[in-house]
Amino acid sequence: MSQNVHTFSSAKLVEMKKYYQDFLDENPQGALFRARTKNAVITAYNSGKVLFQGANPDIEINKWVKQNKVKKIQVHPEKLNNVLTRTHIGSDESGTGDYFGPVTAAAVYITEAQISELKKMGIQDSKLIKDDIIRALSKKIVEMNIPYSLLILPNEKYNQLQSKGWSQGKMKAMLHHHVIDNMIKKINPHNYEGIIIDQFCLPHVYKNYLASENKFVHSKTHFLTKAEHHSVAVATASVIARASFLKEMDKLSHLSGYSLLKGASNKVDRLIAQIMREKGLEYLNKIAKTHFANTEKANNYL
Ligand code: MN
Repeated sequence: MSQNVHTFSSAKLVEMKKYYQDFLDENPQGALFRARTKNAVITAYNSGKVLFQGANPDIEINKWVKQNKVKKIQVHPEKLNNVLTRTHIGSDESGTGDYFGPVTAAAVYITEAQISELKKMGIQDSKLIKDDIIRALSKKIVEMNIPYSLLILPNEKYNQLQSKGWSQGKMKAMLHHHVIDNMIKKINPHNYEGIIIDQFCLPHVYKNYLASENKFVHSKTHFLTKAEHHSVAVATASVIARASFLKEMDKLSHLSGYSLLKGASNKVDRLIAQIMREKGLEYLNKIAKTHFANTEKANNYL
C-alpha cells in the first residue's frame, strides 16, 4: 500500500471536503474529514496535511496537486546571486533532528560590507562547526551588533502543537516566518535586496503552512536548498540558532539532572529509558520531542 502526504490551504480543504461529500467516512481522531473512494482513503487534518492511502492514491492526488504546482516560486539565478552578494536577510532553524531540547530559529540581517568579514571569521553552516566554536562565534556576532531575531519553541509547546496535528514542517515554517517578521520590524529603513530561507520543504508547501495560519510570505523571499553554503546571512542565522539550542540544552540538562544528548541515536534511547524509570514517561514532555520514534524504541531498554 502506498502512502502520500500533501499540504493544502484551508480553502482547498473546504473545497476537497465538498468534492468528497458523498464518500465521507467516519472521522479518525484529530482529523478534519476522511473520505473513501474506490482509488484511495483520503484523510485531511486541520494543519492542511492530507494523507492519501490505498490502491491508487495518485489518481486522487492528481486532482489536487497539479493545481498547486503553478504556484511554485521560480528564482532567476542572476537575481538570486544579486541577493547573496548584497545586503540581505537569512533565516535558519536548529534542533529539529534532536530528540531532546527545543527547536530554535534565527533570522539575521547582513550588510554587503559585512559579508567578507563574516566569511573570514569562519562563519559557515553550523553543522560543520564544533560546539565550542559555535558558542564563540555566536558571542562574536552579538558583539558586532549584527541585528538578529531569535525564537525558541520549548518542548512542552512543541508537543502540544504536534498533538494538535501540526507537522514539524509547519512548526518550522511558522518559526521562520516569525523570526523574519521580527527581523524586518527591527531594521529601518528596509534597504535589503532580499530574504533567503534555508529551504526545508517546497515553497508552495511553505506558503500553504503560512496560509493555514493566515500569514503570507514576505516579498523578496527566495527559497534555497543548502542555503548555509551560499548565503552568509543564513550561515550566521544557523550559528545563532545552534548556539541558542546548545544553551537551552545546557539549561535542560541542569534542570533535569541528566547530561542530555544531542541527536536521536540509540544512545538517546538508553537515556530515555533511564529517565522513564527514574522520573516517569510524563517528564519527557518537558525536555523532549516525544513523537520521535525514540520514545517507542526506549521500551527495548526498560
Ligand atoms: Mn537549515
